[in-house]
Amino acid sequence: EQATLYEYRHVEARTADGRRIEVAANLGSASEAEGALEWGAEGVGLFRTEFLFMERDELPSEEEQYEAYSAVARAFGDRPVILRTLDVGGDKSLPGVDQPEEENPFLGWRGIRMSLEVPELFGPQLRAALRSAAHGNLKVMFPMVVDATEFRAAKRILGTCQEELEAEGVPTGPVEVGVMIETPAAALGAAELAREAAFFSIGTNDLVQYTLAADRGNEKLRHLQSADHPAVLKLIKMTCDAAGTAGIPVGVCGEAAGEPAMIPRLVELGVTELSMGAPAIPRAKQVVSGI
Ligand code: PEP
Ligand code: MG
Repeated sequence: EQATLYEYRHVEARTADGRRIEVAANLGSASEAEGALEWGAEGVGLFRTEFLFMERDELPSEEEQYEAYSAVARAFGDRPVILRTLDVGGDKSLPGVDQPEEENPFLGWRGIRMSLEVPELFGPQLRAALRSAAHGNLKVMFPMVVDATEFRAAKRILGTCQEELEAEGVPTGPVEVGVMIETPAAALGAAELAREAAFFSIGTNDLVQYTLAADRGNEKLRHLQSADHPAVLKLIKMTCDAAGTAGIPVGVCGEAAGEPAMIPRLVELGVTELSMGAPAIPRAKQVVSGI
């Protein structure tokens, strides 16, 4: 069975009624790109950028970020690579940023909330992304967004970075801008967000955690850590319906995207891209082919 599964690596997954589902990889660092391609990744649905910021004494330079992001963009060529801007908070210390002590870091100053308030963090990251887009099909998305006001603010800063780079004569590429749907507020506000975003990517790990008020790392709460809960499915459906109305694509980049039991449900709700840890890709393609 392993051998047959392996053959699914480079299949273009389609349901029996002809719906094409893109199966992509989640990357935790630039060095994972080649391996992901070997597993059959058709793109990167979630490029987590935290690796560049952790376990060091100062923020990474724009140049260092440019090297890492452009390497992944190059490796994937025409295939989409969705870079997620930094998503850390009070549970992880970030050198170079003065973080408050927080009683509830997962409900605290993290993700886009921090990026919007720390220009020396957000600016270089966005500039590095825009420059890397000259080398491939790079897109950008923002984590932990709760409403369109935040999303617009983040896009404005990206626009300013783009203007700066143009004025400096530095080459950039076109960048589609999407939003992660991983807070209940974002799912409930999906109709408004969909009018401003090029795509949605549902982060089921956090969407489950915040919807069911269950810490995603708490072993005692295993039974509350699945996207297969009616409340979560309702929010996923709202998100897909809003995207459908606006004509933008929806992906899933949380754990649920790689779970064989969840894939048919997500596809039925309108998801057209699934992004997961690369070793789960062949099985996901096989599951899609059987829908
Ligand atoms: C998610 O929340 O589902 C997600 C993909 O992001 P992360 O796991 O990095 O929080
Ligand atoms: Mg998340």
